[in-house]
Amino acid sequence: MNDRQQSHAGGCACDAVRYRAIGELRPVIACHCSQCRKSLTNYGAFTAVARGGLEIDDAAEVTWFASSPGVRRGFCRRCGSTLFWDNAANDYTSIAAGTLDQPSGLRQISHIYVADKADFYEIGDDGLEQLTQGQGSDIRPRRGER
Ligand SMILES: [Zn+2]
Ligand SMILES: [Zn+2]
Repeated sequence: MNDRQQSHAGGCACDAVRYRAIGELRPVIACHCSQCRKSLTNYGAFTAVARGGLEIDDAAEVTWFASSPGVRRGFCRRCGSTLFWDNAANDYTSIAAGTLDQPSGLRQISHIYVADKADFYEIGDDGLEQLTQGQGSDIRPRRGER
């Protein structure tokens, strides 16, 4: 398969926002940070596509919240679904994995910010790597491999 022709579609809960991610998607990383806890009810699950690979059908329906300097979270202005996470310093855009149309064909590979997780759940013994904090340079989408 030609990676450059890969395309995944997704959207928010009310379908006001539909998008396509063109190109290889990174495997899913579960983020247990406080921002995800508050905005996503518990922890976030994100994939990512190379910057420029995200096509949003009606970008006016997406509201961007500056969650920290240089970082913004995009959500549907109608239903509130978190869709995107974007750090201007990165060469990729993160996509909330749960918003992808199923089947996504993706696998989860790790947990990050596990030190910040809420106290009411345990991360299951799923054999995946657990990182106390984030892992900036290693969470970009891989190109040309699967
Ligand atoms: Zn919506
Ligand atoms: Zn997070």
